[in-house]
Parts: sequence; C-alpha cells; structure tokens
Amino acid sequence: MKIKEITSQHGRDFTALFECEHCGHTYRSYGYDDDNFHRNIVPDMECPICKKKASKSYRHLGTKYRGEEMNRKERSRDYAVIIVIATITLLVTLTGALLKKRIKKER
Ligand SMILES: [Zn+2]
Repeated sequence: MKIKEITSQHGRDFTALFECEHCGHTYRSYGYDDDNFHRNIVPDMECPICKKKASKSYRHLGTKYRGEEMNRKERSRDYAVIIVIATITLLVTLTGALLKKRIKKER
C-alpha cells in the first residue's frame, strides 16, 4: 500500500487514504507519522482486496518531523564525541598520575 493522501493529522497520529498500487483499491486508515512507519510499515501493508504488498519501486513519504529526527541524531553524535573526549581526558590524567608515582618510587 501507499499513502495517497493524509486527510487529517494531530501530532504524529494521522488519518490517511491508503491506495493499493496494484489494483487501485483505496481505504481510509490510521497512521503514525515517523520515519519507520513511512519507510517500513506502509510498504509492508497487505492490500485487503488483492493481498499484494508495495512493489520494490515504493517511494515512502517523508515524515513532517524529519528535521526533528535529524536533529536528534546529530545530538546523540555530539554526546558520543563528548564521551570520547571525557574518556581520553580521564586516561591521560590517570596515566600522568601513575607516571608521577613511578617517578617518585624511582627516586
Ligand atoms: Zn490491491
């Protein structure tokens, strides 16, 4: 199935007209506006009439919230960088402390 038209939307919940790309059957149903729904769930829906799923040429709709999802990914990448820097700083500090101890012992 594919979404022919989103008829109403409240937040991420929407009502849409779904259309079968094989037999042209349409019906109204509900959806959830995130990337997974558009990318994976819609093309995997079986047509109630001809029982077929979307063809391989299926092109999904983008979510209204795409920008927000991208920002979230960028933010988690920022966290990863901070964690790496913090770990390196900690290792350098520990190594420095150990070296100082060793130097003291040698004296
Ligand atoms: Zn069909």
